[in-house]
Amino acid sequence: MSPQRAVVTGGAGFLGSHLCDALLGEGWSVVCVDNLLTGRRANFAHLHNEPRFEFIEKDICEPFDVGRVDYVFHFASPASPVDYTLHGIPTLKVGSLGTFHALEVAHKYGAKYLVSSTSECYGDPLEHPQKETYWGHVNPIGPRSVYDEAKRFTEAVTMAYHRYHKVDTRIVRIFNTYGPRMQLNDGRVVPNFMKQALRGEPLTVYGDGRQTRSFCYVSDEIDGFIRLAKSDEHLPVNVGNPNEFTILECAQQVLKATGSKSEIRYEPLPPDDPRQRRPDITKARQLLGWEPKIDLAAGLRQSLDYFKKAVAEETAAK
Ligand code: UDP
Repeated sequence: MSPQRAVVTGGAGFLGSHLCDALLGEGWSVVCVDNLLTGRRANFAHLHNEPRFEFIEKDICEPFDVGRVDYVFHFASPASPVDYTLHGIPTLKVGSLGTFHALEVAHKYGAKYLVSSTSECYGDPLEHPQKETYWGHVNPIGPRSVYDEAKRFTEAVTMAYHRYHKVDTRIVRIFNTYGPRMQLNDGRVVPNFMKQALRGEPLTVYGDGRQTRSFCYVSDEIDGFIRLAKSDEHLPVNVGNPNEFTILECAQQVLKATGSKSEIRYEPLPPDDPRQRRPDITKARQLLGWEPKIDLAAGLRQSLDYFKKAVAEETAAK
């Protein structure tokens, strides 16, 4: 795969912007397309002098064409529970219409294609850890369904374009990922706990805190995307860290990383909050030679400067 011209939808978001950086690092020219609903210009501000980077503000729920591209990375979607609950209908539209439009671009130019999917496809899983072959346990009408079903539909459209139009597609199922550039107020557990710990406020643990997640540091996650992009695998591949933590353990790790003395405050569990989540990454190991290298303690330490700066900026803006 020699680097040429790629388009990244959702390239101004947390993961999309790190992906743009990685592609530029590999020698690609990158067109970032984002409507800035949840993405931010700050995430690509460091690229203002980069001639191989171009930003186009556009909603891909309308057809789009940025000229000839060799790779389509389709990452556009609100992705945190707070964001997709607030923007439920745009989330459904970008997962459905947006996916058709991204695939049309790949089809038109004969480009390769990689789409971000999610562990939410497994819902509140009855199989543990989750293998790619598990079909999931999803509430189709619950509050999370705007995201879960949008992404399941995204996968269905992607496989259809592969089967009917022979588009060279890939699907990555992303598990909880964290690191610099996460929005301080996107409601996800790591930014919430980091912000609360750094301000000396109580850490809000939802439910009894015994539900689990498996947290992958962003650089590991992006390495998995790049490896999958270079592979010929068309069926979904889990890319996530298999080290599983209860949310209470996660809170303790954040307290340790920040040196904070904040207390824990228990709050109600949101509806349909999955009880457990952990990827089986056998397939990524065998197929891509990929596995994460950075554990939660190290990843939180590496994220600390970013979160400190974000908290200081928010305080100064008030
Ligand atoms: N959570 C929490 N306190 C918070 C934010 C989240 O206890 O301030 C919990 C949430 O209920 C879920 C887990 O942390 O069980 C991960 O939530 P997040 O929103 O980060 O992502 P999810 O994995 O649910 O999509």
